[in-house]
Amino acid sequence: MYNPSTMSDCLFCKIVNGEIPAEIVYRDENVVAFKDVNPQAPVHVLVIPVKHIDKLTSSEAADGKMLAEVFSVIQKIAADMKLDEGFRVVSNCGPAGGQTVFHLHFHVMGKRAMTWPPG
Ligand code: 5GP
Ligand code: ZN
Repeated sequence: MYNPSTMSDCLFCKIVNGEIPAEIVYRDENVVAFKDVNPQAPVHVLVIPVKHIDKLTSSEAADGKMLAEVFSVIQKIAADMKLDEGFRVVSNCGPAGGQTVFHLHFHVMGKRAMTWPPG
C-alpha cells in the first residue's frame, strides 16, 4: 500500500507498508491493527493510523475524523476478540509516558484482569 505519510525510519510505517512483517488483524485506508510482538496480555493489539503522527499531542484538529475511525476500529477489535468482560486501551505519550515507538498507537489489551495503577 502506498503511504504518502511514510517516514522511512519509522518501524510502524514499515509495518504499514509491508517492509516489516506483522500479524495484521485489521487494515483499511486509514487504520491498521496488528498483534504486539511482545504481548503483555493474552490479547495485545496495536491500533495505528496509517498517517505518520509521532505521538498523541502531535495530532491536529484535521485528524479528528481519522482518529474517530481509529476508535471505531478499537471497538471492532474488542468485539472480534470477544473482550466483552472488559479491556484496556493505552497510548503512551512521550518518553516519560513510556513511549518507545514514535508513531501514534493505541494498545488494546484484554483477556486478563488489569491492575491499577499501571507501572
Ligand atoms: P510503546 O512502548 O511505544 O507504547 O509501544 C510500542 C510497542 O510496540 C511495544 O509494546 C512493543 O512490544 C511493540 N513493538 C516493537 N517493535 C515491534 C515490531 O517489530 N512488531 C510488532 N508487532 N510490535 C512491536
Ligand atoms: Zn510512522
